[in-house]
Amino acid sequence: MAAKPLSDDKLKHYSENLTKEKEETIRIIGDISDRQRRGAKNGSGDLSSFALHQADQGTDTDTMEREVYLLEQEQRKLKLLNLAFKRIYEKTYGICEMCGCYIPEPRLKIIPYAATCIECKSNEEKKSSRGR
Ligand SMILES: [Zn+2]
Repeated sequence: MAAKPLSDDKLKHYSENLTKEKEETIRIIGDISDRQRRGAKNGSGDLSSFALHQADQGTDTDTMEREVYLLEQEQRKLKLLNLAFKRIYEKTYGICEMCGCYIPEPRLKIIPYAATCIECKSNEEKKSSRGR
């Protein structure tokens, strides 16, 4: 049932990928936070006025919302990356958390912090979209 841990060489390789990805993510988060700080200084700094003028300040608000969304996404990614590092140490990295099979390498290349195989991931998404 449970797959054997990946070889140390592979784990090392993936941990290097994760490190790169983490550095990149931290950089993006820093960039966005910088922009938001600057934006808040230049603008009124009052968030409620943004909501009020949402209709006529379409572009600005869109940009801001996109940034907030992006920031949330990157922060979530950072959390997932940290969990992936934990799995590297525990040598469970690359093994699906739900079904215990190996996560295909191409998937790990694209999403190095993936904790489940594609099948389990899509099952989970189906479940959570039904739940909402
Ligand atoms: Zn699975």
